[in-house]
Amino acid sequence: MSDIDIEQYKITEEPFYQPSGNEIDQYEAAYAARLPVMVKGPTGCGKSRFIEYMAWKLGKPIITVACNEDMTAADLVGRYLLDADGTRWLDGPLTTAARIGAICYLDEVVEARQDTTVVIHPLTDHRRTLPLDKKGEVVKAHEDFQLVISYNPGYQSLMKDLKQSTKQRFVGMDFDYVPADLETRIVAEETGIDAGTAARLVQVGEAARNLKGHGLDEGISTRLLVYAASLISKGISPRDAARMAMVRPITDDFDIRDTLDNAIDAVF
Ligand code: ADP
Repeated sequence: MSDIDIEQYKITEEPFYQPSGNEIDQYEAAYAARLPVMVKGPTGCGKSRFIEYMAWKLGKPIITVACNEDMTAADLVGRYLLDADGTRWLDGPLTTAARIGAICYLDEVVEARQDTTVVIHPLTDHRRTLPLDKKGEVVKAHEDFQLVISYNPGYQSLMKDLKQSTKQRFVGMDFDYVPADLETRIVAEETGIDAGTAARLVQVGEAARNLKGHGLDEGISTRLLVYAASLISKGISPRDAARMAMVRPITDDFDIRDTLDNAIDAVF
């Protein structure tokens, strides 16, 4: 493990994070108690940015894993590889995080199969260990190690949800799109566009969020507002930028597209 370069997992520059409550204090307390944390909320509302910011603030390395349904336990824990010299064990990201004392952020963990989520159990209770069954080793987590998972409550179905035995190993923090004045600040700060234009994008975003459940599964995320603002900052007209970033990706329904396009034209 001495050959792992911890510095590569550290965030060297302060990420811009706009707080909306006392989430920073709450997370610091959870980290101090080394409690596993679940951040909940819709896509693109700032969960990942928050964890990156906290890793920077605490000065800890962070290892992020985007989970998907094809992921196996070995993708997290590690596997033997065959090379010219025979077989060689390669640690997975969770094992590396446990060894070096990183914050391990499993993004959209519900996507992973349940047998995958079970491997995190011994790491999230008093044992703080990770058994590498295939290798015959039990990794004792570094004292700085912490597990964080993200969870989008909107996506869950009965078939795809975390088991209670997994959920009840975490403390949970709710995230949502922030109020308009803060979201305007985020959009302007991230892209350098003027506050007036940012406020108009946010206005369209809010209108679209009201369509959630009436033809839209999810509202327009802060991420997409930032995308639209980035296009504007590169010289695209606000109307086109808003259509490209905030309407075309999220729906193919012509009526909803019309409604959103009209909302854009009314604001810009
Ligand atoms: P999530 O992890 O919830 O899907 P992200 O954290 O990746 O979403 O947020 C998407 C983008 O939205 C970020 O890259 C950032 O530009 C912007 N953003 C959202 N919320 C905030 C915030 N509170 N502070 C700064 N940027 C934010």
